[in-house]
Amino acid sequence: MVKVLYYIEVKVRELKKIKYTYTSDQKHWVGDGFYVYGLLRPSEELNKFISPFIMLDYASPKEFSISDHRRGVGEHPHRGIETVTFAYQGEVEHRDSSGGGGVIKPGDVQWMTAGKGIVHDEFHSEEFSKKGGVFEMVQLWINLPKKHKMTDPKYQEISSAIIPTISLGDKIKLRVIAGNFEETKGPSSTFTKVNLYDIISKENKSISLKFENGTNTIILIMSGELKVEDQNFKDKNILIFEREGSQIDLKVSDNFKGLILNGEPINEPIVAQGPFVMNSKEEIFQAFSDYQNGKMGRL
Ligand code: MN
Repeated sequence: MVKVLYYIEVKVRELKKIKYTYTSDQKHWVGDGFYVYGLLRPSEELNKFISPFIMLDYASPKEFSISDHRRGVGEHPHRGIETVTFAYQGEVEHRDSSGGGGVIKPGDVQWMTAGKGIVHDEFHSEEFSKKGGVFEMVQLWINLPKKHKMTDPKYQEISSAIIPTISLGDKIKLRVIAGNFEETKGPSSTFTKVNLYDIISKENKSISLKFENGTNTIILIMSGELKVEDQNFKDKNILIFEREGSQIDLKVSDNFKGLILNGEPINEPIVAQGPFVMNSKEEIFQAFSDYQNGKMGRL
């Protein structure tokens, strides 16, 4: 009996607890192509628990009519971060001043390192615009540590074909987009330790995910339901966990789709303004000035 109780106590201490939950019922337009829920935003209080992640926008499924122009966001800069775009339905086209570009299709991920400065645009693809249809995507911003903020810009196109898929059950699949899941390694190259997975489930099932103690972990529910710590959460909920602990036990519904973000926190001050995320106000002023002087390039 004593032994059993001891086991339970150890188990409980290993579990990462929910620190914050957040949802939004308000969508806003990013340009004319992305109608999003803004579910993660930088703040001094949150940074401790979301770093290295900064911002997350979820464009939940939305029908777009046929258009003779590509909807989206025109030329704009970034510095000090990486922007990661996950296409789930529809197609996103991108061009940047470092020569990167391409179309990402459902299941593909685009990983853009802005580093010292990049100028890009983000649109629905030409083909999607002509056909119309349902569009769904996620955009995540990942911070760069001070020593890599001024790195050269880089573009990684991560097609679904190179993303390893792991079965967690008969009808539940986890994709390793970055980092590791057990022995399986994701294809993305990252500047700090980051694990990114998505999970699509067609069965009701309990699963356990393991993470390194001291890392930050966030779960976005895109569809379906999730049960954690005897609480039920629905789509458009975001769950932010305590750093302590190394395991999360989840129960997913048979229509669940979610994104799991885990990373080693960057313990540095951040100043985020518009498209730039730096360590000080002076560096933000410098970024605006460098952009205006064309130092981040042009399309
Ligand atoms: Mn952008």
